[in-house]
Amino acid sequence: MGPLLSLPRSPLPSLVREGPNYRPRRPERTAFYKLFEGRLLEYLRAHEERFEPRDGPLRPVVKESVEAFLECGRLTSGLARVRCPECRGEHLLAFSCRTRNFCPS
Ligand SMILES: [Zn+2]
Repeated sequence: MGPLLSLPRSPLPSLVREGPNYRPRRPERTAFYKLFEGRLLEYLRAHEERFEPRDGPLRPVVKESVEAFLECGRLTSGLARVRCPECRGEHLLAFSCRTRNFCPS
């Protein structure tokens, strides 16, 4: 993957091209992602009702980390256009959240 070339004005997922050297990560298709996406609010509610009286409120970093993870690697959450020096193809590269102990990228 080469250096950053430019930032497009808006996300254009249709420009994503898979090639021999590039395959978008598509985190939203993983079971791990779907688990957090589908259950985050339910978990936060359950924690508040069942565990908060005994253990205190959830630390804000928990919700923040999961929310960052759900945005991580998704073109709709920010991207750069890059050119591969080998195949000369242009690709859209989604930003990573870099959340400590949680980011899969
Ligand atoms: Zn991440």
